[in-house]
Amino acid sequence: MADDYYTLLGVKRDASEKDVRQAFRRLARRYHPDVNPNNPDAEARFKQVNEAFEVLSNADSRRKYDRYGDQWQHADQIEAMRRQQTAGAGPGSAGPGGQSFSFDFGDLSDLVGRNGGGAGPGGRPGSIFDSLFGRAAGRRRGQDVEHRTRVTLEEAYRGATRTIELREGEETCSICGGSGQIGTATCHACRGTGSAAPLRRIEVTIPPGVQTGTRIRVAAKGAPGQGGGQPGDLYLVVDVLPHPRFERDGDDLRVDIDVPVTDAALGGEVRVPTLKGRSLALTIPAGTQGGKVFRLAGQGMPRHGAAAAQAARFGDLHARVRLVLPDPLTEEQRSLLAQLRDTQLRDAPRETEPRTTEPRSTGGAR
Ligand SMILES: [Zn+2]
Repeated sequence: MADDYYTLLGVKRDASEKDVRQAFRRLARRYHPDVNPNNPDAEARFKQVNEAFEVLSNADSRRKYDRYGDQWQHADQIEAMRRQQTAGAGPGSAGPGGQSFSFDFGDLSDLVGRNGGGAGPGGRPGSIFDSLFGRAAGRRRGQDVEHRTRVTLEEAYRGATRTIELREGEETCSICGGSGQIGTATCHACRGTGSAAPLRRIEVTIPPGVQTGTRIRVAAKGAPGQGGGQPGDLYLVVDVLPHPRFERDGDDLRVDIDVPVTDAALGGEVRVPTLKGRSLALTIPAGTQGGKVFRLAGQGMPRHGAAAAQAARFGDLHARVRLVLPDPLTEEQRSLLAQLRDTQLRDAPRETEPRTTEPRSTGGAR
């Protein structure tokens, strides 16, 4: 079993979302491949930390993880199975024809494959769907299936592909009886899903420029239709992960760049990282203050969807100056800085003289 996600991030189980995010940012910086070139241990750690954050930063997946641990991805299926079991004989027995029964539509939507398992209405003769809608209705379009996926900011920049696994129907695994477990072990026959329905693999292309919440429609890849009806659509909903260095603001990116105080004072050149993978040279004019932002046009995110029609196909990159001192300071540098301070004290304008304890009256001027 892999390390517990909470342990990986070094947070308590009741940590707030903010704590989780902070712990992630700290660890992601520490283990980021940029900071640890050619270090497979750090890379593995970086992946684990990312994975832990993916799960714990989302309220829904975190709740499932708290409840089901490593099996959290199958939570929807497990819960659907449990509902069926507690419903007595299960939905298959609900006969057509006037039999009165109460049914909660919240449950229905769970069964219809809002879950990643894609419990489609087709392929299950005598199912509750037949009871509800009647076979006489004949041709029926399959349900749309929604699936969430997480991408890194780099993937959002370049585009990516994901293979989505959907289960057709809701056939219960005969080995474990649908629980996904045999004793305390995971059922190998169904890999813990509790379902024996065949897996469908669908490759989805994620275009460059997606944002959190972007929905990618894959036509006719949802649940199969009934009675010759059209299949539903598959929707892939994207979550873009935060990046340890770049901050995203729409199609723009922000990044902090370290500038030696000497370069800021006298002028110089620094490298600015970009998501394209190579860094750019940026000229720092003499007298640059900390916090100054330089705009690198067209070095932001690619635009997606309606925004792509704009003339600029990429957003901008805003590089914010962070002044850094030599660390550690040599004795010579320390003495030069002391000289600088002395000249500042000597040449300072009069108003910086030491303050009196009594606040000076500003009088009635202005
Ligand atoms: Zn099984």
